[in-house]
Amino acid sequence: MADIEVPVLIVGSSLVGMSTALLLGHHGVPALAVEHHRGTAIHPRAAQITQRSMEILRVLGIEQIVRQKSDEQFVQDGAIMAVETLAGKELGYFIANLNEGVRDVSPCERVFISQSLLEPLLKTRAGELGAELRFATDLVSFDENGDHVRAVIRHRDTDQTDTVYARYMVAADGAHSRVRERLGIRTSGRGVFSRSVTIYFRADVRELLRGRNLSVIYVNHPELRGFFRIEKPFDSGFLAVNAIGDPANPITDVATGLTEERAMQWVRLALGSDEIPVTIENVMTWNAEANWAERYQRRRVFIAGDAAHAMPPNGGFGGNTGIQDAHNLAWKLAMVLRGEAGADLLDTYDAERRPIGTFTTEQAYSRYVTRTAPYLGTDGMQPVAPDLNIELGYRYDSPALCHDGDPGPLHENPRESRARVGTRAPHAWVTRDGERVSTLDLFGSRFVILGGANADSWTNAAFAACKATQAPRDVVVHQVGVGRFDDPEGALAASYDLTSNIVLVRPDGFVAWRSRTAAGSPSAVTGALSQALCKSLTVSES
Ligand SMILES: Cc1cc2nc3c(=O)[nH]c(=O)nc-3n(C[C@H](O)[C@H](O)[C@H](O)COP(=O)(O)OP(=O)(O)OC[C@H]3O[C@@H](n4cnc5c(N)ncnc54)[C@H](O)[C@@H]3O)c2cc1C
Repeated sequence: MADIEVPVLIVGSSLVGMSTALLLGHHGVPALAVEHHRGTAIHPRAAQITQRSMEILRVLGIEQIVRQKSDEQFVQDGAIMAVETLAGKELGYFIANLNEGVRDVSPCERVFISQSLLEPLLKTRAGELGAELRFATDLVSFDENGDHVRAVIRHRDTDQTDTVYARYMVAADGAHSRVRERLGIRTSGRGVFSRSVTIYFRADVRELLRGRNLSVIYVNHPELRGFFRIEKPFDSGFLAVNAIGDPANPITDVATGLTEERAMQWVRLALGSDEIPVTIENVMTWNAEANWAERYQRRRVFIAGDAAHAMPPNGGFGGNTGIQDAHNLAWKLAMVLRGEAGADLLDTYDAERRPIGTFTTEQAYSRYVTRTAPYLGTDGMQPVAPDLNIELGYRYDSPALCHDGDPGPLHENPRESRARVGTRAPHAWVTRDGERVSTLDLFGSRFVILGGANADSWTNAAFAACKATQAPRDVVVHQVGVGRFDDPEGALAASYDLTSNIVLVRPDGFVAWRSRTAAGSPSAVTGALSQALCKSLTVSES
């Protein structure tokens, strides 16, 4: 038995735990993540990766390798649509081409890559950035003592137990989170509405695809409701089954007592062909549910990912929302651990992420009802919001954001946010040192101040404020037309409403503050930084 001291202990090292370890490593915090399983995901599960997640992976330096691997596994830019059977009638298209009409809002594209291929890439990068991932290791117990969390972990093979002393703990231990339970955090929502299965199969379906590029194929057959995902070279994939039998009064526990023979029948039924040889490789059971935690934090312990919000896969939001949780939390933990921000900054994780988690879970539920389970009825269901709003147009509200009155809608078209406080700072192509880069390439590690071409008064105020307070350590200021930073296409000025004003962007690429007056004021900049850091910055007299 050994004693281990770490700044952050992460429980669960699947998609979200590993992303947390990776993001903490990026911010210079070497975390320890423990994972019950012996390795990274063996089941594909999540595959639809949003532009926002890709933007985060871009900051972490793995966007290109993820794209490359995704192309090996799926044909990109496919459709999300519904059929009666794959061989039979098409019922409609929800999205005709995954990236059509969204390429202007981000330097990144939506991709399809399954968790089983993505997680090893995250793991390698997390290791490079100093994270330690221990597999076949369980969190056994934990308690909080003053300024740390004490946790007991046990290796499943050797039975060796170690005691970990961590300043903070992040539980990314999934929908059945024991940590959440142990913290007494309740969940609410719409409950479990199907005991579903995912049937992994091999079958050459090229002929049935008829040259169509289909990413997600909903099957709405009178006897079965679910969806297909097919991998290259179109001879394997999975069928998720949520309900069978009479569509008006279906059986929704499809998992109990499922035999291989029955699984085979369902795959054949959904394919709409008895002629193609089918082999069943595996069956995984899961709950289709829409539930969210009533809190994301208790003292030094945070919950993230499915532990905080369990949603049906319809829309492909679950894993992506968890990555966003990790992204929101990691820089805050890093700055608080270094003493650069006040501890209250950590409370803003719950304030900012919980409304988004609940909203996104509701949106996944609305897609479940409209795409798969109309028998659940639309009473009290949220209207389906555009995918782009959910992926890139969500807005935060917390005491660390300098809202000037009404913070605005919880979600909107990201093209309309115009760098308002609490929204994701928009993507615009600019030049830096003669190179064309996205504004998003300027963010990720530090606070950044962007100034318009006539913002000298405010950028001078920003320099004066940063010098006088010497905090945070490294605020970076870019002004259009100054140094080798420029906005040749006017894209930055237009998308940020930037002329003689400045915008303060946080390390997670969200806007914390915008100047409003004409004349720059160092004390206004100091005030904004103090609020964004939840720390009173003192101005030195010299
Ligand atoms: C069929 C299907 C398709 C999906 N498609 C998509 C999609 O396209 N896009 C998308 O974004 N999402 C999708 N999802 C959802 C996505 O898979 C989940 O949201 C995501 O996996 C959640 O990740 P997580 O890390 O929060 O939780 P999990 O993946 O559940 O991981 C939790 C981990 O914690 C570990 N753990 C638990 N307790 C302990 C303990 N005490 N000690 C150590 N380890 C512990 C577990 O072993 C587990 O590995 C899909 C889901 C399904 C079922």
